[in-house]
Amino acid sequence: MNSKIEIRLAPNSGFCFGVKRAISMARETADSGKKIVTLGPIIHNPQVVQNLRKKGVHDVDNIADITDETVIIRSHGVEYEILEELKNKGFEIIDATCPYVAKAQELARLLSQENYPVVIMGNADHPEVKAICSNISGTYYVIDKDGVLPEPYYQKLGLISQTTKNLADFQELAGRLVPYAKELRIVNTICSATSVRQQASMALAKESDILIVIGGHNSSNTKMLANICKNIIETQHIETALEIDRQWFDGKKKIGLTAGASTPDWIIVNIYNEINKCTGNGSSIVTSIDEIPGYKE
Ligand code: SF4
Repeated sequence: MNSKIEIRLAPNSGFCFGVKRAISMARETADSGKKIVTLGPIIHNPQVVQNLRKKGVHDVDNIADITDETVIIRSHGVEYEILEELKNKGFEIIDATCPYVAKAQELARLLSQENYPVVIMGNADHPEVKAICSNISGTYYVIDKDGVLPEPYYQKLGLISQTTKNLADFQELAGRLVPYAKELRIVNTICSATSVRQQASMALAKESDILIVIGGHNSSNTKMLANICKNIIETQHIETALEIDRQWFDGKKKIGLTAGASTPDWIIVNIYNEINKCTGNGSSIVTSIDEIPGYKE
């Protein structure tokens, strides 16, 4: 057994407030005996979505696939037109859109109503960004941190962000946009849970020989965590314990773990125990996330 290996989990890893809220709303509705669908997966974690299916919470891609079920709006929100169509068709709707995402939608709407062309730092094909854009009646641009605008100069310009983006990138983009407009109105819509998690993960990465980022391969905030930590230390992004390659840990003394906002505790616990086993640290098997060193510090 190699007792010198230290495995630590970053504080604030795993489910965020918005995801916990959406899942408990879905579970409570399922427990009340209602038939439920979500438009698209309720969160970006295939294992959680699969478990919810066992409780009767199914996801469909189109409104046409909904018959008589109650519709849960996922944490990322849906496009304004879709919400209107659901209302017009008389479906019962339970809105589990994260309040931080709803706030970003509202700000986009307000900026647009005040005639600001709106710049959204985000991924154009992400559901949250599509939903934000659907609230804008005028001009908008979705760009990433290195993106450029089509025009060189605007009288006024609004800037917001997808909630799970990196604060340093947002600051950098805001600085770059200053020469583009006479008036630049910046609203930081990155959620605090995201900023806190990114800071904690980067701090742990600096103290580790390797960082394992746990979360759905389709999860934007998990991919962002992996990207920012890659700049600090060797980083592997995995969804389940099955993806662990024991050779990653050869010669490593300090292994860091972190997890995205849509990663459930049981997957984090599983992966911690599996890494313990394959590195020869098998004595410290845990049953709860609270027992993993680092998490409560
Ligand atoms: S990451 Fe932030 S914005 Fe996204 S669901 Fe969680 S709390 Fe809400």
